[in-house]
Amino acid sequence: MHEYSLADALLAGLTEYLRAHPVAGRVREVHLRKGELLILSAEALAEAWRILTEGTEVAGSELRIEAIPVRVRCLGCGYEGPVRYASEEGWHFAVPVLACPRCAGRAEVIEGRDLAIVGLSVDDGVEVSPPGR
Ligand SMILES: [Zn+2]
Repeated sequence: MHEYSLADALLAGLTEYLRAHPVAGRVREVHLRKGELLILSAEALAEAWRILTEGTEVAGSELRIEAIPVRVRCLGCGYEGPVRYASEEGWHFAVPVLACPRCAGRAEVIEGRDLAIVGLSVDDGVEVSPPGR
């Protein structure tokens, strides 16, 4: 299960982070940024998180997922920024076009594929932001 391995990787990263930066209190929420190219079920991820964190120091914590739009860098003209979206009549969503919106050249995705922990809420209400993100 895709979500299960993602949750497993998140937990490993979080455990490592907490070992280096202990928090004074119980972790209540884990704030995530999810790139829009990463397809996952929030329900399945939450369920995997619940199972995997059982008995750990972050047991009972909840995931808060913020969706992050795709950003690209053009290999031709150097454009860096958001992409255009394609949408057609009857579609329920817009699909990001992974080409340069300026010159239509080949663009590489610089943001939008990842799932990352960007912050924690702990019981005492203090927000903690892991650096380097
Ligand atoms: Zn370009």
